[in-house]
Amino acid sequence: MVKTLLRLCAVPVAFTACAAPAPPPNTLAALFADGLEVVDLTHTVSADAPFWPGPAVSPFSYDTLSAHDDGAPSMGAYSVPEHFGTHFDAPVHGGAGLASVDLVSTKELFGPAVVIDVTAQALVGVDTGSVDPGNAQGFPAHGVVNGSGRFHLENLADMSRLPESGAYLIVAPIKIQGGSGGQVRVFAVLP
Ligand SMILES: [Zn+2]
Repeated sequence: MVKTLLRLCAVPVAFTACAAPAPPPNTLAALFADGLEVVDLTHTVSADAPFWPGPAVSPFSYDTLSAHDDGAPSMGAYSVPEHFGTHFDAPVHGGAGLASVDLVSTKELFGPAVVIDVTAQALVGVDTGSVDPGNAQGFPAHGVVNGSGRFHLENLADMSRLPESGAYLIVAPIKIQGGSGGQVRVFAVLP
């Protein structure tokens, strides 16, 4: 199956031009009125989530701290690598001195999405564990995208539900101070 890539046209990366998005028929008012379909492009953070195998990867763990035993609220604690499951690669992931996840502007986290088939073009989101294919030498795509000060998304879920154009993305990464990336919740608002 052809790997699908997703690109935010709003991100001014110098790759192929996206078609100019049509005026959005979907509005926040329509969204709040439950009039638009929203697809969650996020894998659940669990031991079953996909991840790129590597030396820095340790398994996801979750410990229950309180389970209403004594009338207290339930609480847990978890441990997870930044680049685990559906996650955000901050610019600094691909180049020293670039923005960490907490410093990416919110203006960059919302935008139209275009789904394209895998090509040599650069990209912002993939449904696999890395923007670089497993047979790549090094991490050229990381260098191109992150190196230009942009982020990308890895291990997106359910991308088959996206139309080729017309969807809008809401990208909400966890705000780790100095983080090279982190878990991200990604919503696609369908046209
Ligand atoms: Zn990553």
